[in-house]
Amino acid sequence: MELFSNPNIHDKVKYEVAQICRDLGYEVKEEFKGKDWRADVLVKANNQIYAFEIQTSIQSLNKTIQRQEKYLRDGVIGCWLFEKEPNQTDELKDLPLFKFKNINDKITVSLKGRKELTLKVFLSDFLNNKIQFRKILSPHEVEVRIIDCDCWKCNLKNHIYYISNLISPCHAELFDGDIQMWDSEKLIFNPQIKDKVLNYAEKNKKLNMAKIKVRFSRTINESYMSFGCSSCDSIFGDWYIHEAVIETWYGDGVIDKLIIPIDKTLNLDLEIPHWCHPGEHDFCSLELGTIKE
Ligand SMILES: [Zn+2]
Ligand SMILES: [Zn+2]
Repeated sequence: MELFSNPNIHDKVKYEVAQICRDLGYEVKEEFKGKDWRADVLVKANNQIYAFEIQTSIQSLNKTIQRQEKYLRDGVIGCWLFEKEPNQTDELKDLPLFKFKNINDKITVSLKGRKELTLKVFLSDFLNNKIQFRKILSPHEVEVRIIDCDCWKCNLKNHIYYISNLISPCHAELFDGDIQMWDSEKLIFNPQIKDKVLNYAEKNKKLNMAKIKVRFSRTINESYMSFGCSSCDSIFGDWYIHEAVIETWYGDGVIDKLIIPIDKTLNLDLEIPHWCHPGEHDFCSLELGTIKE
């Protein structure tokens, strides 16, 4: 990577955007002058006008929104490709804004680190509505980590698991690492997840999975679904598990990882606005669904 931005990078990206859009068969105008705006590359595609703005100098979010309002007013979809993105807390529906990278002379577009697309795939998918704004992020897979947990009573090495990441169809990976203490309805014990982990552990001779069942806990004077020693059946209380889990948050002590697909009956929707590029999967949800059936 270069330390200093190449002064010609703006023109290089502009040229490539125009060329790719022409190759895709669309009508293209460079340096198109509107009423009080000028677009680096104006593209007419699928009955819609797009303005691509390549931004290599620093431009604040406010300034970008001001410029975007002019495109909105004139019915043009402004799409921003920044070399250095402005600080933004949330992605915005009316502001498709992405970061481009120039590495070894190849331009790629990053969707906030969820995905890195070649400029060609990005343009083709953006112009064909395969990149859409979503208020909701809908995880469709979970990453499960299997870790050691020695029995506090008989010292036997057991294994337990927790959910480390929620993964969306657009490749957002949200770290979870929470075990929902003292709740019997824990996500980790949902049959969609539990059955697959136990199935996997059964086939893997190196694993000695703790037994999952309802046990009485003297700590909280109540019974709840818990891990317990595979030999002496002592409860591994949620506080004990929590401590074991956080020790492995940064990856140390992780014995194994599984990616488990979950179906729509297990709704893990989260309010995270984003530009969604699911590729061969379905888009994230449009609205918050009901939480679990
Ligand atoms: Zn034990
Ligand atoms: Zn998404």
